[in-house]
Amino acid sequence: MHNNKQKEQLRQIPQVEKILQNPIFTNANKDILKNIITKKINEIKNLILSDNFSIKDDLSKYIIDEINKEYIKITSYTLKPLINATGVVLQTNLGRSIFHNNLFNEIFPLLSHYNNLEYDLDKAKRGERYSHITNMLCGIFNTQSALIVNNNAAAVFLILNTFAKNKEAIISRGELIEIGGSFRIPDIMNNAGVRLVEVGTTNKTRLEDYKNAISEDSRIIMKAHKSNFEILGFTQETSMQDISTLCNYHNIIDYYDLGSGYFKGIICNEPSLVDICKNPPSLLSFSGDKLFGSIQAGIILGRKDLIEQLKQNPLLRALRVDKITILILQATLKRYIENNLDEIPTIKMLSLNKDELHKKAIYLSKHIDKFFNPNIIPLDSLAGGGSLPNQIFESYGISLEIAGMRAVELEKILRKYLLIARIVDNKVALDVRTIQDDEMNIIIDILEKIANGDKGE
Ligand SMILES: *Cc1c(COP(=O)(O)O)cnc(C)c1O
Repeated sequence: MHNNKQKEQLRQIPQVEKILQNPIFTNANKDILKNIITKKINEIKNLILSDNFSIKDDLSKYIIDEINKEYIKITSYTLKPLINATGVVLQTNLGRSIFHNNLFNEIFPLLSHYNNLEYDLDKAKRGERYSHITNMLCGIFNTQSALIVNNNAAAVFLILNTFAKNKEAIISRGELIEIGGSFRIPDIMNNAGVRLVEVGTTNKTRLEDYKNAISEDSRIIMKAHKSNFEILGFTQETSMQDISTLCNYHNIIDYYDLGSGYFKGIICNEPSLVDICKNPPSLLSFSGDKLFGSIQAGIILGRKDLIEQLKQNPLLRALRVDKITILILQATLKRYIENNLDEIPTIKMLSLNKDELHKKAIYLSKHIDKFFNPNIIPLDSLAGGGSLPNQIFESYGISLEIAGMRAVELEKILRKYLLIARIVDNKVALDVRTIQDDEMNIIIDILEKIANGDKGE
């Protein structure tokens, strides 16, 4: 039996029609709204009947507010532009590489019209989507052939599945890595149907180890870039070139998963894609949106006969890229060709020198010292995204303090304004390396508001 309080609350639940007619829902999509109303009313009825409901003075208003909140949640854009003031250039959490506006202006007309993605204009018959990008890649890196898939994880998967399904792939124990976001090399190998043959130890793998592991069933020796860590001290690694020579001799495939392939424009102590392609392994793959600074993609370079075999694998259909990926990759490659590296933001950010960074920090500091007490400080930026784990990019930034407020609280308020900061030595720090030029004045506005007591609520 319902008690009187329950009866009274149930009676106060407004009718569906009544809710639909509420002026705040005038412009709402009625189909979505009806679904939400039915769900919410049932939910509240059940709560009332199970005595888990705290009595509301104005139940009708409460229900309408709840429905409105749910409607906004379902129908709004959830991706928001953030300001990255962490100094970590590539972060999967923050969307990895970003693009220059000019790049989009350039490809925009191609997106609002049909195109010849798979149409051979000369022969008036079906063409091949990959050909748009292959020539450019082969020309730049001087390789026989190329292929693009959805991301580098897909490239690893496709290569292993094509060449070593139900057979063996050999890899060093020091390279059985996890990259984060649940990408673990051994799991990918398993799921590709490949028997994993681990060789060497965590810190040392010699050419002999690979040689001794080769059997009748061996199809591929894979080398994976360690990406997000480095083993220091008593270590030994076999070079890709030595692996390639060994593979050639035994007629098996040498494959290098380079992770974050870097082309040019950054000073770093790793071989670039151009260096690697001077003596290329049979197959090589890397991410499009790490140090390459473009869109999410897996870029595969290598021998023509092997790439042809990859194209025959039905799995490729499930991993294929959209025209937008091809367009953005081409637009990025064009910028590399023309040495217009300022329009590849990942490269630009990583190549800013200390003078430029100092100037940015001074600009920011000057414009907020009316209402804050900023200090210009040296900071260490990172490439991030599993790239160049031990390379520090010296940078500048400002540190911020508000009397009586802990750094974690200030960081949280900044986050409400979509400004992502770091805490260094118990102070909130903004590294200018990853702040875009058109974000400077936004930051100044945000900091002025916060200095005036605004908490971003
Ligand atoms: C990042 C990385 C991958 C995965 O690349 P995605 O493009 O993120 O799929 C694979 N292998 C290595 C060595 C990596 O660093």
